[in-house]
Order: sequence, then structure tokens, then C-alpha cells
Amino acid sequence: MQIEPKQSSVKGPAPMFTGDVYYDVIAAPKPEPSRMRVNSVHFCPGARTAWHCHAVGQTLYVTEGVGLVQARDGDVIEIRPGQTVYTPPGEWHWHGATPTDFMTHLAMWEAQENGEPETTWGEQVTETDYHRP
Ligand code: MN
Repeated sequence: MQIEPKQSSVKGPAPMFTGDVYYDVIAAPKPEPSRMRVNSVHFCPGARTAWHCHAVGQTLYVTEGVGLVQARDGDVIEIRPGQTVYTPPGEWHWHGATPTDFMTHLAMWEAQENGEPETTWGEQVTETDYHRP
């Protein structure tokens, strides 16, 4: 058993996030065959990820606040605490807070067996897309 020290919160880097986002690493890569990764991600109002997709998919679990999520060519959907969002492998999407609310979610995804990138990042979400009704 390992009791792991609390790690400092990490600021979400600018190319991958818009606005103020901090995340806490809950589960980082462990020895094979484990590939589990879990972060608790905190979005300030108006903050969101850039467009991206996950090689092995991703599960989000909203724990606080009110958030938004959108798949490419899909509607912007409001998400609330207790809801789970699953994005399948390769589906482009973004997630974040609403313009007026904080939002925290657990992000759960897996590394790839071959060490290839887990997440492919694209362009930032425009104000037009973010505010689309
Ligand atoms: Mn994602």
C-alpha cells in the first residue's frame, strides 16, 4: 500500500485551456498493466478546455457547480453534480464551466499501452461556440 503525499494544484496551461483552470492529480500512471488516470479539475466561470479528443475515451463526473460540454457538431449541453459524461475514443469535444458558475469534475481516462499520446489537442473554443445556445 502507498499513502501518497498531497500534490500541489496545477494551473491548466494556456494552449489547452481558456480562462482559469486548476487541476489536482488523483491518480497518475502506475506500473503496468495499470493505465488509469484521474484528475479533479476546477474551472472558474467562463473557463473551458480547448477542443480535444482522447485515444482511449474519457469519463467525466461532475462534483460541483454547473458546467457545459459539447461534442463536435453537437449541442452545448449543461451538466450538473452527479452526472456522468462519457466521450468515446477519438470524439472531439470540450468541457468547462458556464459563464456564471464554477464547475468541478473528475476526469478519468487511460494511458495507451504503447506510450502514444493520450489526448490530442486542437484549437481553443471560440466565444461564438462557447455562447451557442
Ligand atoms: Mn475531455
